[in-house]
Amino acid sequence: MSIDKPGILSDRKKQIFEKGVDSFELKCEKVSTAGSVSQRACAFCGSRVVLYPIVDALHLVHGAIGCAAYTWDIRGSLSSGPQLHRTSFCTDLREKEVIYGGETKLREALYILIQEHKPSAAFVYITCIAGIIGDDVTAVCKEVQKNTDIPVIPVQSEGFKGTKKDGYKAACESLMRLIGLGEGPSIPLSINILGDFNIAGEIWVIKKYFEQMGVTIVATLTGDSRVDQIKNAHRAQLNVVQCAGSMKYLGKMMQDKFNIPFVNASFFGIEDTAKSLYDVADFFNDNAIKNRTKSLISTEIALIRPLLGEIKAKCNGKNAALYVGGAFKAISLVKALRHIGIKTVLAGTQTGNAQDYEVLKNVCDNGTVIVDDSNPVELSRYLIEKDVNLFIGGVKERPLAYKLGIGFCDHNHERKICLAGFEGMVNFAKEVCASLTSPVWKFVNWRKKTHHEA
Ligand code: SF4
Repeated sequence: MSIDKPGILSDRKKQIFEKGVDSFELKCEKVSTAGSVSQRACAFCGSRVVLYPIVDALHLVHGAIGCAAYTWDIRGSLSSGPQLHRTSFCTDLREKEVIYGGETKLREALYILIQEHKPSAAFVYITCIAGIIGDDVTAVCKEVQKNTDIPVIPVQSEGFKGTKKDGYKAACESLMRLIGLGEGPSIPLSINILGDFNIAGEIWVIKKYFEQMGVTIVATLTGDSRVDQIKNAHRAQLNVVQCAGSMKYLGKMMQDKFNIPFVNASFFGIEDTAKSLYDVADFFNDNAIKNRTKSLISTEIALIRPLLGEIKAKCNGKNAALYVGGAFKAISLVKALRHIGIKTVLAGTQTGNAQDYEVLKNVCDNGTVIVDDSNPVELSRYLIEKDVNLFIGGVKERPLAYKLGIGFCDHNHERKICLAGFEGMVNFAKEVCASLTSPVWKFVNWRKKTHHEA
């Protein structure tokens, strides 16, 4: 079957699906097409963003300085205590190490840094160059761990090993080396939160809800987390998995090894936040928790409803495009935008799977374009074709919006505003509304003009 999508690389055509028009199965979970400048980062970056928020660990990049600079302070992950995670340590591999090997440099760096910073654990990220020259990072980590008495964990995150999602998996495998090291019995009515990285303090908002419900949080993976919490994560009774793209794999591994079930969750938007809290309450099947959850949700919704109504009146009839990392976020955003009168005309993700895209298709309206692992050319094309008013994405999508004269909302890990939970929904709606109604757009009507003339 030939798919008519002029200007789109032929290998990409089945990764772009228009609801109500196309009938094929959307292709996903594949390596990026050659020639398509994917918005995805490398596998190393995938590992780095997952482990980075562990605030009392040493994060050492074993590679060229560029890998460390590229991921320095990569998330706006806040800490309620130590700030060690915010320093990007690197072995700075150069020509000499490429020829003679980098193990000596790695060993020395680990001893010096552990002595100086006294971390609770150390993660050593294996980058492209370390993988190519074949350093035995595992052996070095083992030796240093024995002599320093802290966990020293290699992260198999060679940039070339696959997609960003393979980097997520490598990070999850490294976390599994910590989980279970703590001792003690299972903790009643307790959970771990997987896949929240405490961007702009979001984990604190979510934790507050669970505390009000009477649910104990053992570990947050990895937002504002401590190594000791992670060591004890196997003592929780349920894993609540928010960022499915990065952490579902860990949820599955913990289920297999420790028999801990997991539920999928999203704390973006009213509906999904409420559903996630109810799902946890239902899991414990405890009447007191159920009652507290119901009362918490109705109080929170009553508080924000009037303001959301005012915002909806201003945004009604506008449209938006979104391109984010994981599919759960995309699904939640479509619903959250609908809540304030905005229709999603383009929805894409870097790491969605077939199941995720089925849900995304169901939640979107006819005519919405759904894209997997897109690139700037495709995104720009659909932003113009759909005459988009607002683009939601991250640091790599922002310039596309600005160049095309479109309002932009940052929903990625660099953002500084909390967008999770009920209060996050208000922040999101306010930001979207401020962008859409800014008087600046009357000065950039060239985009619309060009489009209509074309
Ligand atoms: S692709 Fe390789 S060299 Fe580039 S940042 Fe990733 S790990 Fe470093």
